[in-house]
Amino acid sequence: MSLSRRDFLTTSAAAAVLGTLGRPGLARAWQGPQAAQPVFTPIRGNVGFFTMRGGTIGYLVNAGGVAVVDSQFPPEATACLTGLNERSGNRGVDLLINTHHHGDHSGGNISFRGVARKVVAHAKAAEHMRQPPGAQPPADQLYPDTTFTDTWSADLGDERIVARHYGRAHTSGDAVITFERANVAHMGDLMFNQRHPVVDRAAGATIRGWMSVLEQTVKQHSADTVYIFGHANTGLPVTGDRAALTTFRDYFGALLVFVEAQHKAGKSRDEILAMRDPLKGFESFGRFGNPGPRDALTCAYEEVVIGGPSEL
Ligand SMILES: [Zn+2]
Repeated sequence: MSLSRRDFLTTSAAAAVLGTLGRPGLARAWQGPQAAQPVFTPIRGNVGFFTMRGGTIGYLVNAGGVAVVDSQFPPEATACLTGLNERSGNRGVDLLINTHHHGDHSGGNISFRGVARKVVAHAKAAEHMRQPPGAQPPADQLYPDTTFTDTWSADLGDERIVARHYGRAHTSGDAVITFERANVAHMGDLMFNQRHPVVDRAAGATIRGWMSVLEQTVKQHSADTVYIFGHANTGLPVTGDRAALTTFRDYFGALLVFVEAQHKAGKSRDEILAMRDPLKGFESFGRFGNPGPRDALTCAYEEVVIGGPSEL
């Protein structure tokens, strides 16, 4: 019995004990530094998610083929591929789709070289994978060969996969990947579950844009849609329903209102960015970290005082 098969059974047994089998919206998984084991968690209709290290990987294995959304880092991608091959009878991977360019979501692409028949991403994500704004380009990588600007879709067996770009948010190249029949949507880093997010202004991120993207996503999906999140705070699930998206949108709104009020009250940049206490009403997100170019509080200040980033 292979390691991944054993992990799969362990996860299923744990889910049964917790009474969460058959209740996909309540499936729980934990992510963090300690989560170093490969874990496959089925969600619904041949779609599930894989966790190990880095952003969550979504997967589909059905009679018509195999699709993977995001790739974590190379060792994790290899572990994921091993488990998928066991589940598919070594069919390989028909589609590898990246939600955006960040290394914890696309770094493992290289492990799919010679395996993935098609690699899909938003045009900006593909561009940023080759040259990440403010970072070194990878020495070698498997880059997207198929790009889109608004939407892209494909049929795989009885499943229809749709990628949609709703505008700038976490970066300028984010996409929501929806498995329509299973009614499961991978959000990539458009969703940090009750955790202060990375806001990559250098790559075109905008908090106001992000709020709009979350609203559009909820509108275009249904009350029963299960969303896969890129990351979650310690002990919180990496899947959930639209209430989590609405909470995240409200967090951003409260963050902008807070920063604007402080700025209007005459507080300096340093005084505002020195705040560490949790945002009122969103205490579960935790305390603020140190200011930095991708820190949410810093980016909220810059967006309120300077405005959104220029078009990239
Ligand atoms: Zn990211």
